[in-house]
Amino acid sequence: MNIAFFGVGNMGGPMAANLVNAGHTVRVYDLAPALVRQAVEKGAQAGNSPAETVAGAEVVISMLPSANAVKGLYLGAQNLLGSIPAEALIIDCSTIDAATSRLLATAASEQGRTVIDAPVSGGVGGAKAGTLTFICGGDEASVERARPILLTMGKNVFRAGNHGAGQTAKLCNNMLLAVHMIGTCEALQLGADNGLDPAVLSEIMQASSGRNWSLEVYNPWPGVMDGVPSSNDYQGGFAVDLMNKDLTLAMGNAMQSGTRTPMGALARSLYGLHGGQGRGQLDFASILQLIAGEPPKH
Ligand code: NAD
Repeated sequence: MNIAFFGVGNMGGPMAANLVNAGHTVRVYDLAPALVRQAVEKGAQAGNSPAETVAGAEVVISMLPSANAVKGLYLGAQNLLGSIPAEALIIDCSTIDAATSRLLATAASEQGRTVIDAPVSGGVGGAKAGTLTFICGGDEASVERARPILLTMGKNVFRAGNHGAGQTAKLCNNMLLAVHMIGTCEALQLGADNGLDPAVLSEIMQASSGRNWSLEVYNPWPGVMDGVPSSNDYQGGFAVDLMNKDLTLAMGNAMQSGTRTPMGALARSLYGLHGGQGRGQLDFASILQLIAGEPPKH
């Protein structure tokens, strides 16, 4: 298939590479030329403008950092939506607020275009390995149309409900992720401060009732696990700034629905503090540094 791909950052880069490896023709566009060059080295084509990128596309995928970026791309002055072939399926994989996903879906439908929201879970490791979970919002037929393409980049495709529902489910998940990452850091720090080896403690808790994804797949303690951001100075991965965006969106949802989320609110405060101490670009497992009381970076 001819696929247009917008945003080849930490997640989008490996996702686009998996589409290329599956034999699709992938044209990429990113505001950062160096990232476009990296994608081209992996077999993608470079789009010189958003309109050129979508010309002839059968599928359009976006993996952008924010709702403003998504709105700017599709609904901006250049009306990219109107340049996308009418029969193409648009899949927005960015994590954004549900209202923006619904706004995009309405604008698309008014112009005879079809869009679904399909935010992902699984991190950069999952993007590289092609094992992501896609959490979709949209009509059933469109989600089924997207399924084979999504399964090229992941191993699970869920339909949470109509437009925006994928985003709501994703935010519930990421609020829980923030809470168990902070809890995992606290437990490891408590053990280390009391003479335990964090690697041994991790092994024990992985086989005990404290077992969770942060501990098992994304251990925050440097050196305990290979190939994760904590063992690479918290570079790459899922930025603290992006986790803060997600927690802010989740708290917005909670306010609207009147849901009590005290742990989510505390997680948002702690990640806000951590990002404000000059660590917004580090991977979110670096919250260990806040727990450990390391001095701010600035
Ligand atoms: P990133 O910052 O590494 O990549 C985003 C890319 O989008 C950047 O390269 C940026 O230049 C590009 N971009 C911004 N505006 C653009 C535009 N108008 N046109 C084209 N390109 C544009 O971020 P990421 O970590 O890859 O995250 C992308 C999305 O995936 C976010 O919504 C994030 O919340 C979500 N997400 C990230 C992870 C993770 O582990 N990193 C996991 C799940 C979901």
